[in-house]
Amino acid sequence: MSGRIYLSPPHLSGREREYLNEALDSNWVAPLGPHVDAFEAEFARKVGVPYAAALSSGTAAVHLGLQLLGVEAGEEVLCASLTFAASANPVVHLGARPVFVDAERDSWNLDPGLLEEELAACARRGRVPRVLVAVDLYGDCADYGRIVPVCEEYGVAILEDAAEALGSSWNGRMAGSFGRAGVFSFNGNKIITTSGGGMLVSEDGGLVERARYLATQARERAPHYEHVVAGYNYRMSNLLAGVGRAQLAVLEERVAARRRNRAYYEEALSGMEGVSFMPVPAGSHSNCWLTCILVDPEDFGASAAELRVALEEQDVEARPVWKPLHLQKSFEGCRVVGGENSEELFARGLCLPSGSALSEADLERVCEVVGRVHRRARERMTLANQG
Ligand SMILES: *Cc1c(COP(=O)(O)O)cnc(C)c1O
Repeated sequence: MSGRIYLSPPHLSGREREYLNEALDSNWVAPLGPHVDAFEAEFARKVGVPYAAALSSGTAAVHLGLQLLGVEAGEEVLCASLTFAASANPVVHLGARPVFVDAERDSWNLDPGLLEEELAACARRGRVPRVLVAVDLYGDCADYGRIVPVCEEYGVAILEDAAEALGSSWNGRMAGSFGRAGVFSFNGNKIITTSGGGMLVSEDGGLVERARYLATQARERAPHYEHVVAGYNYRMSNLLAGVGRAQLAVLEERVAARRRNRAYYEEALSGMEGVSFMPVPAGSHSNCWLTCILVDPEDFGASAAELRVALEEQDVEARPVWKPLHLQKSFEGCRVVGGENSEELFARGLCLPSGSALSEADLERVCEVVGRVHRRARERMTLANQG
């Protein structure tokens, strides 16, 4: 056994140092600077959206996106339940209230049927939420073929949380381009990283310009510090944007590596009783940020939790699927539409090591542990049945 296998560690390209040196040599060691401008332009081109603002985190991008779509204190904002808390925390920070919508079993993403029912019910009550935070879970685009028309019908603006989905596409269109604004994250565990950072993208140049303004303390054009509204300190530093440019240049290789991980796991594990994979719907080209499986304890012989512990004992990091936000104490009292699907996915789901630097030997080691847990559990079951 050699070394710990992490869930999704950073993977450097080797050129980060060059970009960093450039920033250091030119003394652009500040938020803003030539790397930030270039990173924004290169990023916008990559995701096929004309405008992008580089920010200090994906969470900051969600926050500014919600505010720029007009979310105000006291109103409800629709949000997928099966996601990371950062999809919905900024709703609370704005004084608004998230309403969580369950996942569908066919994709694990937001259920468009439930969304439509909820919007119809809201319309009957005479109060329709203005914004939906749609999430592209684990790199897989939500079903925009159904979500977009429903939102259009009810006049709901989509903020697409594509934090996990950089490089993914749906029917040929890139993740992050489906809403009025899209969000990306460059946290250390994401498909590319700046150690910490995010991006807000939009076809609306005015919206992105406004995001940059709010992200730099909302300074007015004046020689002194003049403020008309309360802004934020959310801009990306020029040093980190340099790291981002080096990372973005190898995005396609990173996506290919993660897709290879999933293919390897599928080949090795899909024949095993009680193991199934997060489905990838037709038309979806996933970056496979994390490969996730469902473990049926009756057929597999052990639960996802037991499997996770067995992997940990072999120094392999796996994690449960996101705990649905409607179950989190921090969102206590928020409304939820449905909920059973995401609860079951949380109970039975497991994210396997998915880093883009995993070797075939690493993948083999992970699958060996899974196979051993399965064999032993099945043996125990057989003995118990005979006894
Ligand atoms: C990582 C992530 C975020 C937050 O991004 P940070 O850069 O860590 O602030 C938001 N939403 C989802 C779905 C994420 O996975």
